[in-house]
Amino acid sequence: MTNYSSISDKINKIRTGELSLTGNVKGFLTRINEHKNLNAFNFVFEEDALNVAKRIEEKIKSGKHGKLAGAVIAVKDVLSIKDKPITCSSKILKDFKSLYTATALQKMIDEDAIIIGKTNCDEFAMGSSNENSAFGNVLNPVDNSRVPGGSSGGSAAAVAANLCDAALGTDTGGSIRQPAAFCGVYGLKPSYGRVSRYGLTAFASSFDCIGPFTKNVEDAALILEVISGKDDLDSTSYNSPYNSPVPEYSKNLLTEKKFKIGLPKEYLGEGLSEEIKNAIDSLVKELSSKGFEIIDISLPHSEYAIATYYILTTAEASSNLARYDGARYGYRTENSSTLIDMYKSSRSEGFGAEVKRRIMLGTYVLSAGYYDAYYLKAQKVRRLIKNDFDKAFEKVDLILTPTTPTTAFKIGEKSDDPLEMYLSDIYTTSANLAGIPGISFPYSKDSKGLPIGLQFLSKQFDELRLLQMSYFVQKSIK
Ligand code: GLN
Repeated sequence: MTNYSSISDKINKIRTGELSLTGNVKGFLTRINEHKNLNAFNFVFEEDALNVAKRIEEKIKSGKHGKLAGAVIAVKDVLSIKDKPITCSSKILKDFKSLYTATALQKMIDEDAIIIGKTNCDEFAMGSSNENSAFGNVLNPVDNSRVPGGSSGGSAAAVAANLCDAALGTDTGGSIRQPAAFCGVYGLKPSYGRVSRYGLTAFASSFDCIGPFTKNVEDAALILEVISGKDDLDSTSYNSPYNSPVPEYSKNLLTEKKFKIGLPKEYLGEGLSEEIKNAIDSLVKELSSKGFEIIDISLPHSEYAIATYYILTTAEASSNLARYDGARYGYRTENSSTLIDMYKSSRSEGFGAEVKRRIMLGTYVLSAGYYDAYYLKAQKVRRLIKNDFDKAFEKVDLILTPTTPTTAFKIGEKSDDPLEMYLSDIYTTSANLAGIPGISFPYSKDSKGLPIGLQFLSKQFDELRLLQMSYFVQKSIK
């Protein structure tokens, strides 16, 4: 059913008749059914997917088709598709349907991708384990007693369990890279502004990024090149610096360049599992033996990343989530006597515990008495963290780090301790604070057989180097 190595290879096999696209989509639908226990999907679009498959199969055969022709894509349920439900895995958006389609998705649909369904996630993308969903937990396909990571847990699980070719997720502080690492797939968080956020439900608007989960680097490159670029509907989106066109990533993966790779000491100390540290050491050895220069660097403000991230994102979230009030759309309480009472009860009943915690934290850090001490200060620290990266990238082309301090943890292991849960984002939040891109790639397994993901970071808008480097690792080292 999936005897192809990439989306481009799939298109070739459909063209020559070696593969039936309809059969392939049916195969995915069957697998989705067989793997219902994973709880990866909130909604599956069976009929639509099969209808579109028939049309695209013909297009491929006729030779006139888009770059993602026949690619079966799952989409995190925070992205809008016109007339389809969007819940953000929250009770407060129960029964709500999107009025328009997110730009990133529209671009994929225009290139003939097939949307197979919407994936489960932490409520409003707040979480690291997919345990904060009104649709229930998602299970890690590698070990069902463990979390798939979060917040895009359903997308990561769907790709890892081969329920689709690739998936879209969102990354505000690690929600693509961390679940990709936990499930053993590729997860790419683009630069802030690389991909339009139009049609993405806002969590923290100055952090949110849309990006792909894939089984290989080629597909990540292809999807990124399709979804990137300036969009008039999102004033924070760009093409590239100085408005140069978005690079054709998929055609430029091979390079002879021996990049200089920085190893930040702050990412390799206390708290990092021994086995993940060993994985970094092994990759460093391999890369040096292949002529890459490895340079020790320092990102001195790293220790403030988590605190800064949780002050700024909760502030932005408290403002963004004010729109869910029970009055205009979504869930409304059954029992209220006054307008204020209706707002209060709708929000109290509609939001889950973690979302409420963040709204309260965010309201607090923005309140008159604490704004300077928390919000304003955190904004300044955000700049210092960005400056650390700017300085480092004067010396190196790429930075190598672990994606996560541990491999996938057990369901329930951290759900009673928010601080412990927040620490699982320790190596991912800084990229979002600085606006730079990062990729998590599956590198090895720990002694329990759980995937170990490592991360490359690069300068803002330099996704090409990230992809070239990961492609080299995929081809020559793993
Ligand atoms: N786990 C982080 C959080 O809970 C990141 C979430 C995200 O990237 N959407 O905020």
